[in-house]
Amino acid sequence: MAVAVVAACRGAAAPPPADTAAARAGDAVARGSSPDAGAPRATSAVDAVVDAGVDAAVDAAIDAAASAGPPAGWVDIAALIPDAVLELRYATADNIAGVPLYPVARCWMRAAGAARLARAAEALRGDGFRLLLWDCYRPASVQQALWDRVHDPSFVARPVFDDQGRPIRGSVHSRGLAVDLGLADAAGAVVPLPTDHDDFTAAARGDRARGAARANFRALRAAMVAAGFSPLASEWWHYEARGAGAAPLSDEPLR
Ligand SMILES: [Zn+2]
Repeated sequence: MAVAVVAACRGAAAPPPADTAAARAGDAVARGSSPDAGAPRATSAVDAVVDAGVDAAVDAAIDAAASAGPPAGWVDIAALIPDAVLELRYATADNIAGVPLYPVARCWMRAAGAARLARAAEALRGDGFRLLLWDCYRPASVQQALWDRVHDPSFVARPVFDDQGRPIRGSVHSRGLAVDLGLADAAGAVVPLPTDHDDFTAAARGDRARGAARANFRALRAAMVAAGFSPLASEWWHYEARGAGAAPLSDEPLR
């Protein structure tokens, strides 16, 4: 992904404005009235404390429910493609940064990218494959964290934020329209592939793969291109929805 990030970002001329505020506006939820508005009043100081605790717990539960899932216009790929194998490396320490960068293992994409990914998954399913998802949407602040830890412009795009903290340059992953993926078999086991995720060697191009790895790489690429994604020559696992550069960068946190 990181090399892809660089390649994807260097060509960007005038990125559109960030949509962080708009995305967050979608989370705004009107609070209901107190759930026990008609209940008898507490008759002791102890009851009052208990009631206050319950109210706080209910408020927290409402907040949790309201903030669950992606913003409007975005899709949780696990819900859309239930047989996808999620192996989100940035939610673990098993990544190029060596520390977890995501609080949760979630694969979000903008709806336009998600629909294309679902088409690719359907085509590949017919050949006995399941998607193996390594990375999807990456918040701009996580791109910054990645840059801070892997301070190498050859591998990681340096994000740029405006004076109000909104991302104005960065990875296509932060636009919600890039995905890093391989393939698994019908049982969910990883099939032979050119390399592992984020293998920053010459093998990342994929064109040195032979045998089953080559066949699987070609099957993935054919399905992704047919579904509306562009491959990246320098990283066989990275795909971007065609036209992705027109979508705004986002820093909406994963949850
Ligand atoms: Zn990538």
